[in-house]
Amino acid sequence: MAQKYDMTIGGKSVMADSYIDIRNPANTDEVVGEAPVGTSAHLDEAVSAARQAFESWRYSSEDERIDACQAIVKVVTDNAEELAVLLTKEQGKPLGGLGSRFEMGGCAGWAGYTASLSLPDKVLEESDEKRVVMKREPLGVVGSITPWNWPLMIAIWHIVPGIRTGNTVIIKPSPFTPLSTLRMVELMSAALPKGLINIISGGDELGADLTSHPGINKIVFTGSIATGKKVMASASEHVTPVTLELGGNDPGILLPGTDPVPFVEGLFFGSMINSGQTCGALKRLYVHENDLNLTAQALVEFSKNIPMGDGMDESSLLGPLQNDRQFNRVTELVEDAKAAGAKVLIGGAPIGGANFFYPVTFVTDISDGVRLVDEEQFGPVLPIITYKDLDEAIQLANGTHFGLDASVWGVNRDETAKVAERLEAGTVYENKHAEIAPHIPFGGIKCSGFGVEFGEEGLAAYTSIKVINAAV
Ligand code: NAD
Repeated sequence: MAQKYDMTIGGKSVMADSYIDIRNPANTDEVVGEAPVGTSAHLDEAVSAARQAFESWRYSSEDERIDACQAIVKVVTDNAEELAVLLTKEQGKPLGGLGSRFEMGGCAGWAGYTASLSLPDKVLEESDEKRVVMKREPLGVVGSITPWNWPLMIAIWHIVPGIRTGNTVIIKPSPFTPLSTLRMVELMSAALPKGLINIISGGDELGADLTSHPGINKIVFTGSIATGKKVMASASEHVTPVTLELGGNDPGILLPGTDPVPFVEGLFFGSMINSGQTCGALKRLYVHENDLNLTAQALVEFSKNIPMGDGMDESSLLGPLQNDRQFNRVTELVEDAKAAGAKVLIGGAPIGGANFFYPVTFVTDISDGVRLVDEEQFGPVLPIITYKDLDEAIQLANGTHFGLDASVWGVNRDETAKVAERLEAGTVYENKHAEIAPHIPFGGIKCSGFGVEFGEEGLAAYTSIKVINAAV
């Protein structure tokens, strides 16, 4: 019998009436564990536990908040290997490389850095007439909704700034990868005051209930644009503030005449990190028409040395797609591209068997207007698109409703800087892609999101401003 994982509400383990099997995407015959199907009654219970905890936590000192965040660092560090193994089994990413252990390192790094941030009172005016001080106050109960691609790291990105600023948190993980988050929060909750962090698990409808609940004072959502729009609409009912980290379709432009070899590793992992299932991965590559063959060949050759396999195998560097929905979507996008006349250089069809493996795939003879270029593929498939001049490349890169990240690659740094200025995205990289850090604000523009995470700007999103304007 597979292990059952429970929800944690108000510091207690809470069972559900029903459970769903969570299967290993590298071998779908294997049930990794059973996840509870929480209901709106569990949500109400979690809201009341979080509200009760907020009544004292809102008055906690800076030291108490820092200690709580440090307790989280200790939990994710002390239990890193157990959580990494569970994450690999349910999510599919390898233990090594840029996989589960890397994700656990990110959890500790983000939690530790966020603990060290602060938002001190700001004196705006001190005169003979008045003293005006701007304070940052917690919002209340934060509702966090997370996706299945980097479930633990994203959970940490939502939880820790919430706690650090005096809020309490309820998290609802993705129904595709709930187990590792259920376990991580169970461990965290045992190290923190009761009700500070609560977890309910269930389907999409539970997420919808969370976003419209009157007892939630802030929503932080990471997921698709389609769901993000629903979250924003639902949050409007109670004018609940939202942070939305949504999908991306990041372009990369290789400057004309660039030798691809020095950049091939950065291009490859910028695109294929987590088998392409990363919001800020490189998803469209624009190369000058004269450079197509060399660039495509360099990427194909590099890919042959990157093993894809079961994440529990220490030699794997890439894992499967996480779920059947994503597997079918990637398969469909590649078939659609083929039908539109695109050429597949390597990969291009599922590996087969009881799993969601899809091989690394590079596609040429494709342009904007084909779904694989226009939509977010979220898989290990990169379309390489040719351009005639840089103006055209920039226009194509910007010609989308996405605006998460973008990148420009080349040895002429004046030129890369000029192109970077013209690319429309929350982050523009030069000669790299998909590099995030806890001190660097991150967020999308256009339909890729609303608000930022990380750094002081990200922390401030968990607070409201209160001004004390005192006559003297
Ligand atoms: P998704 O939108 O399908 O689901 C995300 C979460 O929302 C899940 O927990 C789901 O249960 C919940 N949900 C579904 N319907 C809901 C509703 N109506 N109301 C409230 N919650 C609801 O996304 P996904 O497929 O899990 O994740 C992949 C997407 O996430 C990709 O588009 C990716 O680019 C994006 N993403 C963005 C970032 C970022 O920081 N910008 C990071 C990671 C992933």
